Amino acid sequence: MSHVDGISGLAGFALKRNVRTRIGTKSDHSALKIAFAGARMGKPLFRAAALGRSAQTRLSRIRSETMAKAVRIHEHGGIDKLRFEDVEVGQPGPGQVRLRQTAVGLNFIDTYHRTGLYKLPALPAVIGVEGAGVITQVGEGVSDLKEGDRVAYAGPIGSYATERLAPADRMVKLPASISDETAAAMMLQGMTVRYLLRETFSVGPETTMLFHAAAGGVGLIACQWAKALGATIIGTAGSPEKIELAKAHGCTHVINYRTENFVERVKEITDGKLCDVAYDSIGKDTFPASLDCLKPRGMWVSFGNASGPVPPFELTALKGSLFATRPSLFAYTATRKELLDNAAELFDMVGSGKIKIEVSHRYPLAAAADAHRDLEGRKTTGSIVLVP
Ligand code: NDP
Repeated sequence: MSHVDGISGLAGFALKRNVRTRIGTKSDHSALKIAFAGARMGKPLFRAAALGRSAQTRLSRIRSETMAKAVRIHEHGGIDKLRFEDVEVGQPGPGQVRLRQTAVGLNFIDTYHRTGLYKLPALPAVIGVEGAGVITQVGEGVSDLKEGDRVAYAGPIGSYATERLAPADRMVKLPASISDETAAAMMLQGMTVRYLLRETFSVGPETTMLFHAAAGGVGLIACQWAKALGATIIGTAGSPEKIELAKAHGCTHVINYRTENFVERVKEITDGKLCDVAYDSIGKDTFPASLDCLKPRGMWVSFGNASGPVPPFELTALKGSLFATRPSLFAYTATRKELLDNAAELFDMVGSGKIKIEVSHRYPLAAAADAHRDLEGRKTTGSIVLVP
């Protein structure tokens, strides 16, 4: 540990942040030197007294400029692990931008990060992967973005925050037709729908598809997009209200999979012909039944685990020459071009009114735990936004 790492409090903060040049006056420098010496001697009172009032005021101002509020986890677990606290943001490094966030998207993947189903690189961590806001600073080497640009993103972890640093090459500039809230609500779910319907499987007028959780965030966007592509959409949903909502967003048929056997219903609806593709984000509870809804050579797209992960299975379960894939948005938007192409098509679909993004639930950022409880409790429909 260096001597700077070894001190704490105001003086430590100032030295660690290398703010001496910003503090300015000679007397402030002297105060910091004395404070630093006091801190090394382990005398916090001496340290506080040594700092002049003006230096303290300026340090407080600098502190408020670099600190943000965020929802962090220090260990994996239930919603009680979500802590709303102060975090240091810092200056953007090479290839980074600093963002003041105006809206944060909440997604089911955030619950996987919270519980540890999906591993995080390190703890403590600010969770969340989606947001929109304004760039307040750019780091070295960032040439295509500038202070004041309105942007949104899906992917870089750490979005449950009032401010954050983020990789510039994952930011997408927002057109005037897309509000910050709409962007935060749709970047992850909308770009997911785009790759699922246009790339994982090419959905068109000839396609009969099964889409689970059709009234959810991804679901309502998928219903509208698939309808625009001319497909026959068989959705599933967990309540009469959700069924109505899915129908209103373009689902041709909707099955209540909590009260009905969805395989039998798919057989009835399709006259035994079954589906070309089954989009399954439920995981454990709908496996292997979703496979039974597919025609020979149909495609099972397992893209989520709302009820828990799909258990290990024998390849012979893919009877009838079925195809199986386990796609992720990142793999479909890994290059800057893929990201921008996907986002551009999503912006077109929303900007032209073919898709309406339903922000059905808004929570203050500090109440992220309530949002997690409702999402996991199957109480939500459409998209969820946290308000920083
Ligand atoms: P949703 O708004 O769709 O919420 C999940 C829905 O799943 C619930 O509302 C509920 O709807 C249904 N569900 C069924 N069983 C359960 C259960 N046991 N516990 C909780 N919910 C259940 O969430 P999102 O739109 O954020 O995400 C949908 C899915 O898509 C998730 O599985 C997510 O991981 C996945 N996803 C995958 C991506 C990828 O690239 N692979 C990217 C983005 C999302 P109902 O009551 O109608 O059953």
